[in-house]
Amino acid sequence: MDGGHLATLTLGDSVTRLPGVGAKRAEDFRKLGVETIGDLLTLWPRRYIDRTRITPIGELRPGATSTVEVTIQSVAERMLARGQKVTSLSVSDGTGRLDVTFFHAGWIKRHLRPGVRLLMTGRVEVFRHQLAMTHPEFAVLTGAERPRLGLWPIYPLAGELKQRFVQELEAQVVPMWAAKLDDPLPLAIRQQRQLRDRASSVEHLHFPQDVGDRESARRRLVFDEFLRVSLAVLWLNQRSGGRPAPVLDAKNALVQRLLSALPFSLTPGQQAAWADIAHDLTQEKPMARLLQGDVGSGKTLVALLAMLAAVGSGYQAALMAPTELLAEQHQESLANWLSPLGVPVGLIRAGQSDERVASGEPMVVVGTHALISERVTFDRLGVVVVDEQHRFGVRQRARLSEKGTAPHMLVMTATPIPRTLALTVYGDLAISRMGDKPPGRWPVTTVHLRGRDRRQAYVAVQQAVRQGRQAYVICPLVGDTEEVNGKAAQQLAEGMRTLPGWRVGLIHGRLPSHEKAKVMEDFRRGSIDVLVGTTILEVGIDVPNATVIVIEEADRFGLAQLHQLRGRVGRGPAPATCYLIADPTTPEAEARLEAMVMTQDGYELAERDLAIRGPGEVLGMRQHGLAGFQLADPIGDLALLEDARVVARQILADDPTLDHDDHRILKAWVHEMLGSEWPTSVLH
Ligand code: ADP
Ligand code: MG
Repeated sequence: MDGGHLATLTLGDSVTRLPGVGAKRAEDFRKLGVETIGDLLTLWPRRYIDRTRITPIGELRPGATSTVEVTIQSVAERMLARGQKVTSLSVSDGTGRLDVTFFHAGWIKRHLRPGVRLLMTGRVEVFRHQLAMTHPEFAVLTGAERPRLGLWPIYPLAGELKQRFVQELEAQVVPMWAAKLDDPLPLAIRQQRQLRDRASSVEHLHFPQDVGDRESARRRLVFDEFLRVSLAVLWLNQRSGGRPAPVLDAKNALVQRLLSALPFSLTPGQQAAWADIAHDLTQEKPMARLLQGDVGSGKTLVALLAMLAAVGSGYQAALMAPTELLAEQHQESLANWLSPLGVPVGLIRAGQSDERVASGEPMVVVGTHALISERVTFDRLGVVVVDEQHRFGVRQRARLSEKGTAPHMLVMTATPIPRTLALTVYGDLAISRMGDKPPGRWPVTTVHLRGRDRRQAYVAVQQAVRQGRQAYVICPLVGDTEEVNGKAAQQLAEGMRTLPGWRVGLIHGRLPSHEKAKVMEDFRRGSIDVLVGTTILEVGIDVPNATVIVIEEADRFGLAQLHQLRGRVGRGPAPATCYLIADPTTPEAEARLEAMVMTQDGYELAERDLAIRGPGEVLGMRQHGLAGFQLADPIGDLALLEDARVVARQILADDPTLDHDDHRILKAWVHEMLGSEWPTSVLH
């Protein structure tokens, strides 16, 4: 590579300026979120292979993964029956000989000539009494080059990108550009917190010398991720702090009428949460509260009271659901409560608007994120409720308070997010936790059946249907997309339609939304007995007459998902059963199923989940891309998170506008976090 040419490039330049990266590879890189040279610096390795020690061939042990430094003695190629090419090498290091095999290795052949020196890492095998490796990771050593030892990065790939190509590119780019990174953190803070500098952390996260080196680099970069979001949140609070929210009458006539119309009394948990909320709503300071309560604990009713506090005081209220299906369902169930009170409930779909909303008519509006899109203008927004939305973070809040008012905000979740994390992701949220469930509920009897015993589950479905009850059947997760899963659900449903006396409905993510709504409506009205679906049924669906849920191939689902699915039944007064059909093949899957059978409690399940999976993967937080953390493990790194919050406060206390020269990069980070749509006038 031509070092002179590279030296003229900057971090913002496109990767296509780098040698070897043409349009095709640039396209593949884009899929990984990499467009510029700077992006390559933060394309973090997925994992590492241990190359901290070279083992002489004479000391290799079968079964171990080892690194050897060798010279190629001979190269042979042969064709397998299926037209597959195999390249075999014989290599040695003076202490012994090793056979190496590569399948379909056309693209690496050019490196593999007798006399070439290699550093190779792989699993040691014995094949025909000879030490061997298949598809080892390798690096070519040129001239007298000493092998670079340490942990060797393995990168995420996309399209036709090859691991070796990305490794080599990173090996050229990282040392050259990482050093040029300015440190966003003032030296004094770094010293005080014992954090290493960002430049060397970036370089060493790509190419750590050993595990300790990687950990100290990771620690610094995780700190930065937390600092970024903490600063943005505090910044936002500081800015919106000035704007008052409407003072609402939480005991207004509408609220009273709903309370007296309820056919049941509030649970103690609901009462306490409502007391917290009612107090907040009568303050000028905008409410920012997280309502945590397990599946079925009755969060929606509490939200409804909050929304009526707004409507009864002459304001509007909005409820945002994670999917359109849930929005529709919320709209229907809210209408059941609200129509008798004469309160309009509107549903806004993506790309739509509603005149009544813009005219300021007091009402409840339900929708997805479309509600904070540009088209919907609220004239008098008093309360916003966000249901089960982990991604509703800082940026979305910024968008909301851009809408002219500072509404009171309530975030509802069944996920037991640790307090510190909730604070960071959602801002300075107060927390209400409901630990109980409406009385008279039967626990959902949970049964694990092997595949060969699945009949038992369907006999129970049959009995339920005969008694006028309803059932869900969740089809196996066959692929990564709703497309394939939808097809599988369809097959399952078609099979069941042949059973006498069952009215079977089908729902999956690929159905157009009006069809989804129709199926849900039919199920709710009881004109469908058995609803076959994908995990689209996971959240929020509330049909109290459904008493059986069958989950096929339950071992494929995570614990949080299983718990959510089970929460679809046991919502009425009749006893309910959940059948988990699975032949688990790993101890973890076995443990998940056992946990489901043993406990109904979402918080306890979350703890077991933590024990089974280890921190980080819990509750699908990674998958949710919570707050856009790339390296941070929101549970394992909690202490660092607390540190970062303290530092963020300290920085903003000294320099509330981040105009100090030392804080230049931090200010850019805040801008970036809050989004380009954030009006700059607010930033000054
Ligand atoms: P979640 O917390 O999962 O959102 P929901 O709000 O959907 O739970 O409530 C579950 C069911 O319990 C609904 O059918 C709701 O009408 C009912 N419910 C709510 N509060 C009570 C209560 N205090 N007593 C009896 N049933 C209740
Ligand atoms: Mg709910």
